[in-house]
Amino acid sequence: MFEISNNTFWSFGYWNLELFWDLEIGIWDPLLMVQELQSLFGASVEGRLGNYMGQKRVVVIGGGPGGYVAAIRASQLGAKVILIERDKIGGTCLNRGCIPTKSLLSDVKLLTILRRSPVFQSLIQKGFNPLESIMDRKEKVVQELVKGIEMVLESYRVTIKSGHADVLGSNQVVLLSGEKEKEIIEADAIILAPGSKTKNLPGISPDGEKIITSDEALRIREIPKEIVIVGGGYIGVEFATIFNALGSEVTLIEILENILPGLEGELVRNLRRFLERDGINVFTNSKVEDIHRMEKGLRVTVRTQQGVEEVSAEKLLLSVGRIPNLELNFSKAGIETSSAGIRVSDRMETTTPHIYAVGDAVGGILLAYVASEQGVVAAENLMGMNRKMEDTPIPVCIFTYPEIASVGLTEKEAKAKGEIKIGRFPLRSNPAALISGEPDGLIKVVASKEDDKILGVHIIGHDASNLISIASSLVRQGVKTKEFSRFIQAHPTTPEALKEAFLNVNGLAVHLPKPLRK
Ligand SMILES: Cc1cc2nc3c(=O)[nH]c(=O)nc-3n(C[C@H](O)[C@H](O)[C@H](O)COP(=O)(O)OP(=O)(O)OC[C@H]3O[C@@H](n4cnc5c(N)ncnc54)[C@H](O)[C@@H]3O)c2cc1C
Repeated sequence: MFEISNNTFWSFGYWNLELFWDLEIGIWDPLLMVQELQSLFGASVEGRLGNYMGQKRVVVIGGGPGGYVAAIRASQLGAKVILIERDKIGGTCLNRGCIPTKSLLSDVKLLTILRRSPVFQSLIQKGFNPLESIMDRKEKVVQELVKGIEMVLESYRVTIKSGHADVLGSNQVVLLSGEKEKEIIEADAIILAPGSKTKNLPGISPDGEKIITSDEALRIREIPKEIVIVGGGYIGVEFATIFNALGSEVTLIEILENILPGLEGELVRNLRRFLERDGINVFTNSKVEDIHRMEKGLRVTVRTQQGVEEVSAEKLLLSVGRIPNLELNFSKAGIETSSAGIRVSDRMETTTPHIYAVGDAVGGILLAYVASEQGVVAAENLMGMNRKMEDTPIPVCIFTYPEIASVGLTEKEAKAKGEIKIGRFPLRSNPAALISGEPDGLIKVVASKEDDKILGVHIIGHDASNLISIASSLVRQGVKTKEFSRFIQAHPTTPEALKEAFLNVNGLAVHLPKPLRK
């Protein structure tokens, strides 16, 4: 194989640096250069390039989607990376969050579809209890994904170390592993990604048995006869969907005016209707006043707007949100924090030079894909690029049954900024939704009256979590509803419904009766 010598690189490298100029980002992109050189000279270029560039030593603390993505990106750019994880690679997302919950939700969705299917419902016998097998499958999904990430990290020659790490200064990390083993690791740059932990409520202390958090809920092996879920955020409503489908009697308690605060009100009202139709008791404007432990289970006193309710439950699941994990010795390294999280700039840099922080630990929007993008930004900046976390609309998906997905401004937010137009399309009029057996749902589009630009898209129903990806690109690029309405969509698919919702903004939906008035 052709091997490049020092001279080849320098003579080659200088005459055409433009080749590696990433026009879109407007900066010199070392990754592009590595890829170009690899395509010309083979993989041997990678190690050599590291030597030429003087390999940067990067230590990442925390192996969740913030940390492991940062590690991979830094390695792609030529850094020598050590990733320290005290528990399992993949962090909360893979082991205790996104992936296990979505595996359970996928199975209970299938169960619900079968139960409601006129063709297959007879297959589900009375008393059918799939909990053991869906928990086992969830474990397999998690293990396979964790192994996959470990393999990718290995392919990038990221060194994974197990143990508890802490920062000692802007260039030093201490690793504690085993009983007394202590290792000091020097680094040119450090990325902190220690994640978040469950938020507690005064008077409700999880004991892992009767009062549980999402961690224990993901490990249960017996379906509780009744469960009270405190907190109507996305984790609470997703678990309400899971336990309801498994046959528990579910009570969901939210202190605010409605569940899923901050989301488009029309979707939330619809979801609440569906949850209640399926037998979930939803108490809003309500709070737990007292918990009485009984021999078997709990008696929960709830103050609602209508008065006091007593609810008996085998288990209470506390899901009132998560808070940044701020257990590291930040002051030693001069890193500023607040209760909201580690303070960072839009380049993900902390107040201490060479130390970056990403993910749930910096607060803001605590979601895996936000953590990962922050990881990329941090890695690129410490490798000499100049990236900022862009202020773009972030899509949100909630995997209830039916699903909810949302991006951009809600009707209320958009109205506060100017005049708007609204388009709606019921999924019942979309062949793909009807065929799927899940016809309940709605697409709502918020557009500017002045220039027809799409400001927000809010979906409840079949395929919402996939459709929102298209909607996100449209909102981000400032596309007009009339522009998207001209795109041809395959048939029968749900993007046809999206197109109809955009057409409906101007009263032109094809598969809806003629509007009564313009
Ligand atoms: C039930 C549930 C469902 C969720 N569902 C979704 C979803 O569907 N979609 C979504 O986008 N997000 C979801 N999330 C949120 C998502 O899991 C987090 O936003 C994401 O994991 C944050 O990534 P992170 O890398 O910042 O932190 P984490 O994933 O928490 O990773 C941090 C890691 O750092 C390690 N660590 C901490 N301190 C140290 C130390 N001192 N030394 C060594 N290691 C350390 C921890 O062990 C952990 O593995 C869910 C969360 C929960 C709890």
